[in-house]
Amino acid sequence: MALNLNDNIRYLKGVGEKRAAMYHKLGIETAADLLRHFPRGYLDLRSCPYAHEAPLGEPCALRLTLLTKGREQRIRKGLSVWKLTAADQSGVVHITFFNAKYTVENLRIGQEYIFYGRLSGTLLRRELDSPQVFSASCSELLPLYPLTAGLTQTRLRQDMAAVLPLADTMPDPLPEEIRLRADLPELSQALRRLHTPETPQQAEDARRRFIFEELFTLSLGLAAVKRGRRQNTARPLVYHDPQEFYATLPFTPTGAQQRAIDDAFADLCTNRPMNRLIQGDVGSGKTLVAAACGWLAAKNGLQCALMAPTELLAEQHHRTLCGLLAPFGVKVGLLTGSLTAANKRKLKEALAMGQIDLCIGTHALLTDDVQWQNLALVITDEQHRFGVGQRVTLREKGTATHMMIMSATPIPRTLSLMIYGDLDVSVIDQLPPGRTPVETLVIDSAKRQRAFGFIRDYLDKGFRAYIVCPLVEQNEQTPEGLLAAEDYLEQIAAPAFVGYKVELLHGKMKPKDKEAIMGRFVRGETQLLVATTVIEVGVDVPSAVIMMVENAERFGLSQLHQLRGRVGRGSEKSWCILVSDSKGELSTKRLDTMKRTTDGFKIAEEDLKLRGPGDFFGSRQHGLPQLRLADLTQDIALLELAQQEASALFRADPELTRYPDLAAQVRRLIATAGELPN
Ligand code: ADP
Ligand code: MG
Repeated sequence: MALNLNDNIRYLKGVGEKRAAMYHKLGIETAADLLRHFPRGYLDLRSCPYAHEAPLGEPCALRLTLLTKGREQRIRKGLSVWKLTAADQSGVVHITFFNAKYTVENLRIGQEYIFYGRLSGTLLRRELDSPQVFSASCSELLPLYPLTAGLTQTRLRQDMAAVLPLADTMPDPLPEEIRLRADLPELSQALRRLHTPETPQQAEDARRRFIFEELFTLSLGLAAVKRGRRQNTARPLVYHDPQEFYATLPFTPTGAQQRAIDDAFADLCTNRPMNRLIQGDVGSGKTLVAAACGWLAAKNGLQCALMAPTELLAEQHHRTLCGLLAPFGVKVGLLTGSLTAANKRKLKEALAMGQIDLCIGTHALLTDDVQWQNLALVITDEQHRFGVGQRVTLREKGTATHMMIMSATPIPRTLSLMIYGDLDVSVIDQLPPGRTPVETLVIDSAKRQRAFGFIRDYLDKGFRAYIVCPLVEQNEQTPEGLLAAEDYLEQIAAPAFVGYKVELLHGKMKPKDKEAIMGRFVRGETQLLVATTVIEVGVDVPSAVIMMVENAERFGLSQLHQLRGRVGRGSEKSWCILVSDSKGELSTKRLDTMKRTTDGFKIAEEDLKLRGPGDFFGSRQHGLPQLRLADLTQDIALLELAQQEASALFRADPELTRYPDLAAQVRRLIATAGELPN
């Protein structure tokens, strides 16, 4: 029986359960999925150099005739070696295979093959270890696929060849007129060109089609999400002068804060749902804007939700907002996963009865059994941690809720098109007065002890410090030189900070313990916190003046910027010490950027240039689905085209009734966009 597109891949001839499980790891369940498993590149076998002219140390393909095969040599149990020789016009190459009985047995002396590998040896003696072998007559552009343990390129190519005829039965989700306008090949042709190209141009044309399709689908999906928002009308709030709120504050709000609050109040007092992004660098005082909006909602007898990405942050917001709103009798609640069942129930009852005005929480706020009496405003803090889908869920809890998003993650303009297209934006471009910019130093680990001395001096003066490591704990897979907070504290930090109060904080701890540890640090009972990036977002401790980051090269620049934002919140000069032994050009450049600039936008642009969008999209930081092909920095023109076509199509047929295959594809994409990272 012939396999169909939507049949499970295990029924493909020769695949079976074991390989099906490998495919499953790659997200491939059906024949159709396999067809959409795209090559990450191609091996160009068209112009093989001569063995003695090819550069040493670089991967290359050589066209060689096999001369001798030699015997299997058992080095020890489980390790066998074969030594072969092969040659082209330029001379002989010595080839070694390890544990490759099957490969070697199948090679014939006197026959020509293509060997692909890294040449080593000397000017006179060329060597090739464990090369891949291809028949000399194989297609000249060989696709290279992402693999998983146990799966080989050869197997995958065989299976791909077996399913490729099914490409003709696959419906093309792209509307034809759009495809033609964009000059893109039709689906089955594109699949053939992608998997068996005759020229690099064919592969490129096919790739271009799939990139377009990906961006087009994403644009349509975002348009659908935005439309869902826009159709609502919201309940307008009655305006109250924020001066009444300011009068009780211990400080004067900055001009930028006041402007953001004015913008938000204006939105809230219309019958169109507010859809505003408050973008302000770390430490610019975004919490105050949330407090003011919560105040206005409470004045109107309406409820407000404030969602934070971590419990730690939710708890901090709770403390801050309780303080700021106490003079007005606003009732502030806190709902997190770590409440006892009884307390949770009590809180939920109070929410449903409208006895709480402002409720702060993590994604626990999103669970179905949280009911509100009259939720009017939803604020999400550091929203990049939440998926598009989650925001939609929360918004649906109140009828036509106003929505405000606070973000300290500056996003390069090219990407913000994709993410924030329909939001109104207020920028808080001013730090509260009396701040001194944080000075950043880059050192290598040889200077670590001096840095410790520097930290001790500050601790002696009553200040506090953080040291951040990239990992929680070491395991067998940890690459050498990577530091884990637990071992670091025990072996490196503890001996240097005898007599100081040092604690460990990491994401694997129980929420209660984390809270207790953070609480001690905030109160000054702990002087030095050795931590992972759990302290990354939002945590506010004005007397913390040093942020030291170990293995700094391991972090994204935007992440380092966030970490650096944990200090420099008081009037004392603060320091960010980046420790790295990495001598690579890229990491040197990146850490230099950190030294040079404190502007979050510039840092984000720089990160994008240096590392590509992986930081923004690969890790799902922004809740967008992961893009498989498109590189948003390289494919800007295609992105613009996709956005144009998507918005035209969306205007004409928002439900995509004429394009069921496309509609299904959009739904699948949005479904994958709603997950939280971790
Ligand atoms: P972020 O924008 O990073 O969320 P926060 O809202 O946590 O910043 O504010 C950072 C710190 O600045 C807090 O300690 C807060 O009390 C303080 N702060 C906020 N606004 C002002 C202001 N106008 N004047 C002085 N301090 C302020
Ligand atoms: Mg904040």
